Amino acid sequence: MIDLHCHSNFSDGLLTPQALLDKARQQGITMLALTDHDTVLGVTALLEANTDKAIRIIQGVELSSRWKKIDIHILGLNIDHQHPVLLELIAKQREHRLTRALQMSERMALLGVEKAYDKACVVAGHQHVARPHFAQVFVNEGKARDLAAAFKRYLQRGKPAYVPTPWISIEEAVSGIKEAGGQAVLAHPLKYDLTRTKLHELVEAFKSAGGVGLEVVSGEMTPSQTQEVAGLCRRFSLLASTGSDYHGDGLSRISLGRQRALPPDCMPVWHLWMD
Ligand code: MN
Ligand code: MN
Ligand code: MN
Repeated sequence: MIDLHCHSNFSDGLLTPQALLDKARQQGITMLALTDHDTVLGVTALLEANTDKAIRIIQGVELSSRWKKIDIHILGLNIDHQHPVLLELIAKQREHRLTRALQMSERMALLGVEKAYDKACVVAGHQHVARPHFAQVFVNEGKARDLAAAFKRYLQRGKPAYVPTPWISIEEAVSGIKEAGGQAVLAHPLKYDLTRTKLHELVEAFKSAGGVGLEVVSGEMTPSQTQEVAGLCRRFSLLASTGSDYHGDGLSRISLGRQRALPPDCMPVWHLWMD
């Protein structure tokens, strides 16, 4: 079983890298990529935890990028997570994220939640805070029943606490991943709610930037959605990836490694890593 997309508590996942690894063992996963949002700190911890090397760890990251005012997620797989070019890119993202978090905190003050940034840091246990942490703050302050309600009421695009982030471009994300020796994969291509024309445009832009694969199976995708993305792989001669996008029990309906199988006619991205 292979899972090339999941999150630890170094981004917005619930589990520590060690707990993620234990879960991967229980689930019978043989190859696991940790792809936290714009950070690789969890990868270091995961590699350290994997003492018996029973599971093949693929060093990964999920970079946020901006394309035509839409947030697009690019997976960097099989990277050298210590590569200086990648680390520089991540530092830039971190600055963007911090600016955004502080702006969101100001908005939350207007909604009656004081010092939301500090509170989100406490929730997260670190300063790499994201919307799920702010959602938890809304819940803790009694402003929302649960995380989903907090998102719906305050944190989704267009809602009062939402602030867009000036992420790096697709070109920057892909070239950083390539520099770090990895492969760039377009994460969950159907999650951006694009028209077919727009989606083709995105895939073309991604491919011409140097991207090599699409996430054909992701978390809760239906079989027909998977077939659609597999079709895009054929049309644009791209490789296929698979991942649960697991964030933790309660946050994700699909558990680690429990996403559907890749269609047999797809060429998996890990064929490039077989030696
Ligand atoms: Mn996430
Ligand atoms: Mn994503
Ligand atoms: Mn993800």
